[in-house]
Order: sequence, then C-alpha cells, then structure tokens
Amino acid sequence: MSLRTRIVGYCIGLCCATGLLLGATLTTLQWSTQESEIALRARTFAETVATAIAADLAAMRIEQLDRVVNSLVERNLEPLDIQFVAVVDSQNRILAHSDHRFYGQPAEPSLLGGGPPAGDGVQNGSWRGEPVVVATQTVASAVAGRPGLIWGKVVAGVGRARLEQARLQALTLTALLVVTTLIALGLLLYGLLEARLVRPIRNLTQLARRLAEGELSSRAAAGQADEIAVLGAALNDMAERIATHTAQLEAAVAERTARLEDANHQLAAANASLQSRAATDAMTGLPNFRQFRASLAGEVERSRRTRQPFCLLMVDVDHFKIWNDRFGHPAGDEVLRQLGSFLRDRMRRTDLPCRYGGEEFAVILPGTNLSGGEWAAAKLCATIEQAHIGNQPGHGVTVSIGVAAWPDHGETDAALIDAGDAALYAAKEGGRNRAATAQLPKRDPAT
Ligand code: GH3
Ligand code: MG
Ligand code: MG
Repeated sequence: MSLRTRIVGYCIGLCCATGLLLGATLTTLQWSTQESEIALRARTFAETVATAIAADLAAMRIEQLDRVVNSLVERNLEPLDIQFVAVVDSQNRILAHSDHRFYGQPAEPSLLGGGPPAGDGVQNGSWRGEPVVVATQTVASAVAGRPGLIWGKVVAGVGRARLEQARLQALTLTALLVVTTLIALGLLLYGLLEARLVRPIRNLTQLARRLAEGELSSRAAAGQADEIAVLGAALNDMAERIATHTAQLEAAVAERTARLEDANHQLAAANASLQSRAATDAMTGLPNFRQFRASLAGEVERSRRTRQPFCLLMVDVDHFKIWNDRFGHPAGDEVLRQLGSFLRDRMRRTDLPCRYGGEEFAVILPGTNLSGGEWAAAKLCATIEQAHIGNQPGHGVTVSIGVAAWPDHGETDAALIDAGDAALYAAKEGGRNRAATAQLPKRDPAT
C-alpha cells in the first residue's frame, strides 16, 4: 500500500473519529442544556402557580383558586407549552385543573401526566399520549422560615414535543457543521501531508532511482530543516562521494589501461625483436637455418600453387679450413660476414640468401627456372672471386655452388636440399670455384 493511500486512510479515520467524538459531545451538551431548560421552565411555572394560589388554597376559596389557575394557564399555556396544571389538596383530591372534568376527582397519576411525585421536583411523564415534563411544587405556610402546614400541591406538565423537534434540528445542524468542518480539515491535513511528506519522499525516491541508474550529477533540492531534508542532504553527500570515487576509479583505470597498452607495445616490440633474432644469424645478419627451412617450405608451397619454378643455390666456401688455419678464426669470421653482406647486397631484392650453417650459405631464387639459376650461380662464383673477400692481400676466397631447381630436381624442400647438396659435392669434385647442377632424377619409364 502506498504512503499516499495510507495517509488518505489515516485522514479519513481521524476525521471520522474526531467527528463522532465532537458531534457526540456537542449533542450531549446541547441536549442536557435543553433538558435543564425545560425542567427549569416547568418548575418555575409550578412555583409561580403555587405562589399565586397559596392564600386561596389555605382558605379553601375554591372558586378563587379556579380562577387564578385558569387565568395563569390561559396566559402561559401556549408560550411555555404548558399541557396541564392542577392543584391537589392535602387529602389528595384535585381542587383545580386546567381540564375542568377532573374537579373533585382523586389525584390519579393518569390525570396528572404520571405525577404527582412523592416530593417536590421534576420527572418525565406523558399527557394525552405526548411526552411531558411534570413539575410538582408543595404549597405550604411558612413560619419564620420554617416549614408550616401543607395545604396541597401544584402539578404542572410542560410538553416535550418542541424540545424533541429542537433536538432533531440541533442534531442535524451539528452533524452538518461537524461534517463540513471535518471535510475541510481533512482536505487541509491531506494537502499539508502531501506537500510536506509524500511529495518530498517521492522526490527522494526518484533521486535514489536516478543515482542507481548512474545519473551521478542528480541532487536533491534543498528543503526545510526536517528529517526529510536531512535524508536529502545525506543522499546528496552519498552521490557526491560516489561521483568522486567513480571519477578517481575511471582515472586509475585510464592510467592503468595506458600503462598496459604501453607494456603491450613494449612486449610486441620485444616479441618482434625476439622473433627476428630467433630467425636471424647473429654473425652475418642473414636468415638462419631455421628461417631458411621455413622460407623454403613456403616457397615450395607457393610454387605448387602457382606452378612458378624457383631455384635453390647451395654455396660453400672453398678450403675454408685452410683460411682459418692461415689467418685465424676471427679473420674467418670476417670472411663469413663479408660474404653475407655480399650476398644480401648483390643479389636481386626478391632473392633470399640465408646462412645454412658453418661456412655454407643457401640462396632461394623465386620465379627463376633452372637455366636462370645456373646463370646466377656462375655469375656469383665469378663476382665473389673478383671481390677479394677477406681483406688479405694476394688472397681471396672462392665458393662452390650446387644448383637445384623446382620442380626439375624434386617437388619437396628436402628433395631440393639433397639435390643441391649433391650438386655442391659435384662442384667441389669438379675443382671448386664453380657451379654445378644437380642430376635430374631418374624417371620411371612407365610414367
Ligand atoms: P672444402 O673446400 O672441401 O669445403 O674445404 P673446407 O676446408 O672449406 O671444408 P671443411 O668441411 O673441411 O672445413 C670447414 C671449415 O669451416 C672448418 C671450420 O673450422 C670452418 N668453419 C665453420 N664454421 C665457421 C665459423 O663460423 N667461423 C670460422 N672462422 N670458421 C668456420
Ligand atoms: Mg662445408
Ligand atoms: Mg668449405
């Protein structure tokens, strides 16, 4: 159940309870006032009659008594709503009555509106089917303020019909007044509670929802200095802290992301360098044996796909052991370095020279057929001899080269290497400083 529904319920309940209490109190007050007023009226009238007839009653001047009673009754009957008046003697006989038929009759209660009561006073009774207030007043002689002889009683009945009517009117008016006042009060109370309680709480609820959805710039409006305003200030404070914390967190994340990206770049560079070093021969700067095998396999794959031929040259320094022995190993290393640079700089850009191992090099010549490979190998032998590699006056290194071509000497990388090696061996056998071509594999006559 919502707070508003509950407040409406409380307002209605409170108004009903207050209305009932107020109405009952007002009505009770009015009714008791009216009751006292009618009793007073009846008693005053009875006392007036008693005073007026005291002497005549004591002297038993019946005629005079009757006249006084009648004149009083005639004068006061209507305005005071007197229903009857009677004079009863000490023997309890009716001496005078506003209804002449009851003269001389015994004072029966039915003839006196239910009275007379035992003593003086007021009681409720009925006269001719209508409710009346019956007042009884003793008529006695008084000597020096002390009670004397009792001559009789005056009994008067005042009608309650007008009183009942007035009561009904008063009740209606009171109910109307109370209901109107309470509706106005209820509306006022509801308006106040709505403005001071329900709306601020609803605003705070919406603020909390917006904050939960991430709108951290939302704030509660400043209100009056009450608990709701304190709650709003607490929410504002919380939002402020969350916003600050989030900003700090975002800054830290951004900084760490930047650092991570930097580290990633460094790692990628280190990986690239590692990969390049893993694939490069440290001495010559050429691709090493591992990279050569990978490149050769790739070239075989490509040629199989494109049906483009390529050649493999296996290059070996002649009598390198003797060079080492004569000039020392560092000088031998220098020969290998210069030879590497020579191969890299003098061959076509598309060719791929590699260090095969020891004093051996391998060169892949993509898109080159066997005759092209043979020509390139012969030219390489000649230019190396003329290059005077090794910086030793009067001495220069020469190389022997074995030539194998794809697909002429084999369709796999291993077959090509074997063929190239065999050709190199043949070049050595043939006297060195020359190129030799591998033998073509024997064909199966059936194919
Ligand atoms: P051949 O003409 O038959 O090839 O004779 P060779 O002396 O070149 O061949 P051999 O296989 O007998 O000797 C190869 C020599 O190459 C032996 C070795 O010390 C030398 N060598 C291999 N790798 C290196 C290297 O990295 N630096 C140096 N300085 N020498 C090397
Ligand atoms: Mg060798
Ligand atoms: Mg050699």
